[in-house]
Amino acid sequence: MNRKEFAVIGLGRFGGSMVKALSDEGVEVLAIDNDVEKVNQFAHIASHAVVGDTTDEAVLKSLGIRNFDHVIVAIGDNIQASILTTLILKELGVKKVTVKATNDYHEKVLKKIGADQVVHPERDMGRRIAHNIVSNNVLDYLELSDEHSIVEIVASRRLDGFTLIDLDIRAKYGINIVAIKRGREIIVSPQATDVILKGDILIVIGADKDINRFEKKLV
Ligand code: ADP
Repeated sequence: MNRKEFAVIGLGRFGGSMVKALSDEGVEVLAIDNDVEKVNQFAHIASHAVVGDTTDEAVLKSLGIRNFDHVIVAIGDNIQASILTTLILKELGVKKVTVKATNDYHEKVLKKIGADQVVHPERDMGRRIAHNIVSNNVLDYLELSDEHSIVEIVASRRLDGFTLIDLDIRAKYGINIVAIKRGREIIVSPQATDVILKGDILIVIGADKDINRFEKKLV
């Protein structure tokens, strides 16, 4: 099987941490920045690190960028350079391009010009932390759409000892428990007769408003 090849453009805080994490995973990663100092910092971390202005099509072509499986554009504040780089990458036929957006307008433009995935780390992390702060029982959540999520919820004593059928969660709340984590054990697709214990981590999928109603019952 061919190993996947990644390239990260822009070695600021976000791009730099992507390069480190990908290298730690043992993945081949090309790091690119137009600032030579940044490139030197990553010379021993990335498989290759090169200096280049990625708003120049010839630079991207000379790096053979279209042969990469996945390119991450992590140019932060320079929105114009981020947009132009993304446009060129898609025109050159790069299959998967993930781009960091700085604001909503930036995100909208990136989607229009064909970015395959747009991430908004500061906004998303802010939302995630806010959610964790207000809901004591929620460990983590993943937004599936504007209105639906998958959430990890700690079972409080109010659920202790009840089976899924006792609680009738699907009918009462319209949500589904897709798995239960208990210590190192994980019960996937739990049965109606499975018992919940205090401290279990419930993986719940559903509409945000329904999940919120369920969370309130736990308090
Ligand atoms: P963060 O907010 O993640 O720290 P920054 O905006 O600080 O992001 O960093 C973006 C990086 O992108 C910088 O290291 C900058 O040198 C690099 N960069 C900006 N424009 C270009 C470009 N046209 N080509 C290549 N790299 C660029």
